[in-house]
Amino acid sequence: MSVQRKIIHCDADCFFAAIEMRDDPNLRNRPLAVGGSAERRGVIATCNYDARRFGVRSAMSTAHALRLCPDLLVVPPNMDKYIHASREMRNIFYDYTDLIEPLSLDEAFLDVSECHRLKGSATLIAEEIRQRIYEKLQITVSAGVANSKFLSKIASDLNKPDGIFVIPPKNVEKFIKTLPIGKIFGVGKVTQAKMHNMHIQNCEDLAKLSIFELVEHFGSHGKQLYELCRGIDLREVTPKRQRKSLSVEHTFADDLTNTDACLAKVPGLFLQLHSRLRRMNTWQRITKVFAKVKFTDFSSTSIEKTGLSPSKENYEALVREACERKNLAVRLLGLGIRFVDEKEEDEAIQLELFEKFPELLLERQKN
Ligand SMILES: [Mg+2]
Repeated sequence: MSVQRKIIHCDADCFFAAIEMRDDPNLRNRPLAVGGSAERRGVIATCNYDARRFGVRSAMSTAHALRLCPDLLVVPPNMDKYIHASREMRNIFYDYTDLIEPLSLDEAFLDVSECHRLKGSATLIAEEIRQRIYEKLQITVSAGVANSKFLSKIASDLNKPDGIFVIPPKNVEKFIKTLPIGKIFGVGKVTQAKMHNMHIQNCEDLAKLSIFELVEHFGSHGKQLYELCRGIDLREVTPKRQRKSLSVEHTFADDLTNTDACLAKVPGLFLQLHSRLRRMNTWQRITKVFAKVKFTDFSSTSIEKTGLSPSKENYEALVREACERKNLAVRLLGLGIRFVDEKEEDEAIQLELFEKFPELLLERQKN
């Protein structure tokens, strides 16, 4: 890559809690969390910094959080407000680049390599974005600036809250050396323990291993480790591409003469569909599943249903129904999935959150 990339990772500080404190002065200057209630076995979604001083963390059970911090005030979430704020933030990002990769409602990578505003200084751009978000939404955002996603994400955490940390290209080598291995993308608790056993504490230690040794000890992750511990991460900032659907179909050399013959073809098609879905590596949500049948007279029919999971059994049921629409042999069968479209994307994030924290949904229905 000849051009130096400029990547900003923006991350709002205790996002849900920040919005609640903004809207109600009574919630400020005291330990506050947004989450489900202890009586309903709720968990903490986000907490403010006053609460963090007591050891309260997100994803912790609310009951546990209250034991750590008896004064903790837990309020139910207002998802609509968070989604609205998230959109406002994204609109500001779009003034600088179209290359925006959201990670969640309050976090995103921005590739500003091609942005000419503020003399193309990624640092000044990040500062201006932070300032504008504060003016527009009265919440603070932290930013990390570096030449890769990996380093910009680490950087945004270093001067949190309301801070910025810049790793200029010339400092990457020095910065990476002392970086604890636990900060490396993809290194979880198990790998970390294994590395500690090998007396590897930071990236400098890890960089002493050859790529062969890394592959030997850490398998397929080895090559990536070799690069990351040198501060190399060529992953691109990829705006969410909106694919509307995914399908596989097959025209058979010999017509399938009855429903059972059609059903016998479903497992094979189903496997193909699933392997393509896996390769897409998408986080888009599925809204519908469908099956398509083309008969010997070249007429075709399709059936799609909402709210069904893309399981083999569901596809079998769809194919059966479609085949039985006409008393004709079948020349083509197709199976497919439709995804949530762009306008519904925020709603999808919302659903994802509710899946993570189902008790939030209960709280919401109650209100
Ligand atoms: Mg955040």
